[in-house]
Amino acid sequence: MSFFKKPNESPDTYKDKYMASLDSQDALEQQYKTNQDLLCKTIIRLAVAVHGLNPALDPHLDRIRNTLKQGLRVHQLQTELQAFTDALMTLADAPTDTQLDASLLIDFLVDRYPSFQSEFDGVLQRYQRRDYINHQALFSALAELTNAIKPASLNHAFNGELTATDSQAIYGHLWRIVESVEIPEGFEQDVAQIKTRLQNAEPGLVPIVDDLASLLLAVRKHRENERAELAVFLATLTEELAEIGLKASGVNAAYEDTHKKRDWLDHDVTAQMADLQQTSATATQLEPLKQLIGVRLADISQQIQLHNQEGQQERENTQRELRSLMQKVLDMESEVAELQTSLDAAQRQIMRDPLTKLPNRLAFDDRLDSEIARCKRYGTALSLAVLDIDFFKKINDTYGHKSGDKALMIIARLLSKHCRSCDFVARYGGEEFVMLLPETDGRQALIVADKLRETVAKSSFNANGDRVSITLSCGISGYQEGDDNEDLFNRADAALYQAKNSGRNQCVAG
Ligand code: GH3
Ligand code: MG
Ligand code: MG
Repeated sequence: MSFFKKPNESPDTYKDKYMASLDSQDALEQQYKTNQDLLCKTIIRLAVAVHGLNPALDPHLDRIRNTLKQGLRVHQLQTELQAFTDALMTLADAPTDTQLDASLLIDFLVDRYPSFQSEFDGVLQRYQRRDYINHQALFSALAELTNAIKPASLNHAFNGELTATDSQAIYGHLWRIVESVEIPEGFEQDVAQIKTRLQNAEPGLVPIVDDLASLLLAVRKHRENERAELAVFLATLTEELAEIGLKASGVNAAYEDTHKKRDWLDHDVTAQMADLQQTSATATQLEPLKQLIGVRLADISQQIQLHNQEGQQERENTQRELRSLMQKVLDMESEVAELQTSLDAAQRQIMRDPLTKLPNRLAFDDRLDSEIARCKRYGTALSLAVLDIDFFKKINDTYGHKSGDKALMIIARLLSKHCRSCDFVARYGGEEFVMLLPETDGRQALIVADKLRETVAKSSFNANGDRVSITLSCGISGYQEGDDNEDLFNRADAALYQAKNSGRNQCVAG
């Protein structure tokens, strides 16, 4: 463009050209400023997109964003970009197992630099093939590629070729970024506002991008808080579940049937807890998780309540049955006691003579068994005396059978009264009595028996008004080694026979 006046040009034409030139300059400056804004916004958006991928890079990204917020200062930006590149280079080369979804970033770059689509797609494919050792290697490759194409693109932009189509693409891309973010509760209004601004293609991209970046950072902060809250919540939940498990384990431990039911309950509760843990591990939002956990806990509580009610019912039934059984046992015990009493009475009756109330022959045989066994075991002495009333038949004949009975009862009482406490007296049969004298040899037994004989001989009883005296004859035997019951008895009986034959009212030791 020339500002020099040509010969055929009027001063007005010169002025017009000058003014046109100024207008053109203004337009260029305006275009330059727009492009500058676009560049700043692009870098800010990139910084937001990769923020959080590596803690070592985040401070650089923050500084780059802050620098650009104040406008494009080339030197400062160059310094920051160099520091960012250095940080990328110095990152550890440790391989990374996880893969990011890099397609959003690649889409953005392809949108921005469509003529380099094949190069960006190549990088994406290499990344997906895991040709890059880690994320940093991916970013380095992208940085290298964008560095190579930046000058031309920038020139392109600065040359004023930013079109409405470019702006539309940027708004569209921002819209997709907003759409791709999962919006937590409480952020809906802010997101709606940003979307409205994008939809209306509000002029001035930088404030929108800046607001969007702030919103995304706030969402990230919210997520971090939510995760921290979730961790506390899960810890509390785990404790509560452990307590519930403990209660469930302790319910009705006493009953076998209930053991089985408790096992089923434990199984159910464990399954519910495992499901909860699985759900918690994969959960991304706290509120729905809390609601889910609330429902599950209500289920578990209901199961335990049901179990307890069943257990209570069973306990009551069992206690009722137990009470009834106890009553039966008590009834049976008293029946047994009664039977025992009558059995004892029957036993006593069997072993006792009904007339004289002395032990009978059966009791004597029993006692003789045990006394002989004692002699054999301890080598102690034992004597046996057989006592027979003299001429008893005559009493019956003279005074009647009843008087005879009376005489038997009187003799029995005298024998019981005057024998030693350790001695054993029984009615052997008829008018015959026997006596066991433990730890007494034949000689001592003779003395004892003779005293009894004397006592009886001195006594008398009333029979039909007459005083009637009674005498006894007595045969005595002492235990000899090897004796059985019969041996001992037979020797005493033989001695009695001698006493009778020798005139009666006397004692003879056999
Ligand atoms: P001995 O001096 O030789 O012994 O002459 P005894 O008369 O005592 O002996 P015997 O064997 O001849 O007679 C015994 C009698 O005892 C016969 C029997 O009727 C009588 N007697 C046996 N048991 C009872 C009883 O329970 N009551 C009465 N009243 N008499 C009985
Ligand atoms: Mg007799
Ligand atoms: Mg006799």
